[in-house]
Amino acid sequence: MLNIVLFGPPGAGKGTQSAKLVEKYNLIHLSTGDIFRYNMKNDTELGKLAKSYIDKGELVPDEVTINMLQAEVEKYPDAAGFIFDGFPRTTAQAKALDAFLESKNTGITLMLALEVPEEELIKRLLLRGQESGRSDDTDETIIRNRIKVYNEQTAVAANYYNEQGKYHAVQGVGSIDEIFERLCHIIDAHSMII
Ligand code: UDP
Ligand code: MG
Repeated sequence: MLNIVLFGPPGAGKGTQSAKLVEKYNLIHLSTGDIFRYNMKNDTELGKLAKSYIDKGELVPDEVTINMLQAEVEKYPDAAGFIFDGFPRTTAQAKALDAFLESKNTGITLMLALEVPEEELIKRLLLRGQESGRSDDTDETIIRNRIKVYNEQTAVAANYYNEQGKYHAVQGVGSIDEIFERLCHIIDAHSMII
């Protein structure tokens, strides 16, 4: 399997690049943020719980997110691989994901981390907020808190993958196609050696 963690701060372009990667490599895209938003839209219990965190730009508790993610993976027993977008967001989540994938006799192949300067992120998110109306993208205070939470709780999860030799940083500024090329280059180089 080809299991990719697509990593990076809010607004780094994970969703955009995931859509292109899914097509090229025939993967299943799992975005925990999208799943939370789907539940919020349908006003499920999970949606109500998630909303109380998302509205503040905080993380939904690990256990809730991990259980939800595992249930999603279970829906695709024949998948050629997954792109995990926006997950794991903490080292505890990364460890839980490893244990879970191991129980399925698979594991994470690579972490691709999109790097984008903070002011560029804020610009992109405010623009996305205008277009999508996503409430956590329209308020600069919430955006700044999301970036703070990313820096304090999420960025460290990259160390976990780095220790396993799986971490690859990718410059996330440029055209969508340029960034996509950079990601494909790493994936293809990796596929050659296994
Ligand atoms: N979120 C979370 N855990 C996740 C995914 C999302 O807690 O695994 C929450 C968190 O509050 C985050 C929001 O959902 O700020 C939006 O996440 P998403 O990944 O969609 O935003 P992005 O980082 O892609 O802009
Ligand atoms: Mg996203």
